[in-house]
Amino acid sequence: MNRKKKHTSASDLIISVSGVRGTVGSALDPSLLTQFASAFGTLINGQTVVIGRDTRTSGPMAYHAVLAGLLATGCRVIDVGVCPTPTVLLMSKSVNAGGSLVITASHNPKDWNGIEFALESGRLLAEEERVRLLDIYESGGVKFAAWDKQGTVEVIDTAIDRHIESVLNCDWIVPDQIHHHAMKVVIDSGNGAGSVITPRLLRKLGCEVVELNCEPDGYFPRSAEPTPDALDQLCSTVKAERADLGFAHDGDADRLVLVTEKGTPLSSEYTFALAAEFLLTKQKGDIVATVSTSRMLDDVADRQGVKLHRTPVGVGFVVEKMRETGATIGGEGTGGVIYPELQYTTDGIASVATIMQLLAESSGSTISEVIASVPSYAICKEKLEVPSQQIADAVLRLAVDTYSDETLDLADGVKRIWDDRWVNIRKSGTEPIIRVFSEAQTPEEAQDLCDSTLNTLRSLMERIHN
Ligand code: MG
Repeated sequence: MNRKKKHTSASDLIISVSGVRGTVGSALDPSLLTQFASAFGTLINGQTVVIGRDTRTSGPMAYHAVLAGLLATGCRVIDVGVCPTPTVLLMSKSVNAGGSLVITASHNPKDWNGIEFALESGRLLAEEERVRLLDIYESGGVKFAAWDKQGTVEVIDTAIDRHIESVLNCDWIVPDQIHHHAMKVVIDSGNGAGSVITPRLLRKLGCEVVELNCEPDGYFPRSAEPTPDALDQLCSTVKAERADLGFAHDGDADRLVLVTEKGTPLSSEYTFALAAEFLLTKQKGDIVATVSTSRMLDDVADRQGVKLHRTPVGVGFVVEKMRETGATIGGEGTGGVIYPELQYTTDGIASVATIMQLLAESSGSTISEVIASVPSYAICKEKLEVPSQQIADAVLRLAVDTYSDETLDLADGVKRIWDDRWVNIRKSGTEPIIRVFSEAQTPEEAQDLCDSTLNTLRSLMERIHN
């Protein structure tokens, strides 16, 4: 890929299937953002674009840069302000916009930002549309509008309430039933985009809410990626407050992870598995999951008598398969779940309401008791930092040779498969890292599998350097 040739370092600017991300103060400068936005405005011929942003400190800078590009290409811009990515996409669907643009770097660290593009109804760009966008961006093929065709801006400040309303109107959510249980919930939004909407939703559901890190100021007090080891504060607060449950979002709140009433953080895999099992008792239909999502989903599909489809990692692949099969639910092991009745994008807010409904219908069981009734596997998630995505590609190529005597699935990265365990090695599409995920019967086996694989990858990386 020579897409990054305009920039000094490939490691701090990443162009992926959904958009562009980079570090603020270096790669992600205002001119780049304006150029990308005007390329997008050209791609969609100056139609209506819904824009919103997460809480990052660079959000206002990025907003103004992006706005200039959209207005200059004649777009009618609807600005929904600071809100979660699924909120922006739902608004785009409800006003029939030609596209949407979210200023976010999702779960990346606080010094990153970026833009995520989508077309009508939150649809991610198809490969040929993405190639066209990059061609317009790189070749200077932007079509600027004349003085009397300049774009306009409208501000809508009700997007969060509209999103809450849509979630409460989902068939499987019965607000009165949740209300009746008067549960106590701690929500840790990591000072990200879920800081306002999720406490408000939970209060509407009659919960007693303890807000933790719900200052939408972009100074993330923990990793924007809500991994179990980033949730110490949430775990201790759930215990101290004697809450029924703890929730945590990533930076743009399309993901959700859970903490039990005992203060135990659950793997992000549980969110999708629990939501799928619950929803399938209401609406029978297929499940779609990525190759690196837990075997728990196979069990759910078996118990519910439905089909599970596996796709390469990435929301775009999951959505494509969901549309094709008319699946009831889809998602990823990262805690991102897609509810097609609402919209075809991962929605951490809908997940909050779904888990609350599940608990309300669990005959007084605690979340720990619900979890104990589901066969679980130990999952280990590790990552290896690499100097660049090119080196990641080279390491992956060497890994295929190294493991060539084993049973491999090469649909997405390298997945080594045994009867009772697997390990998947993948290049991240959004960060200069290689992800190594494993799943086995016990935590020790899963960790061993990750560790031995990481050791092999490190030695392969040294071979490239020498
Ligand atoms: Mg996200």
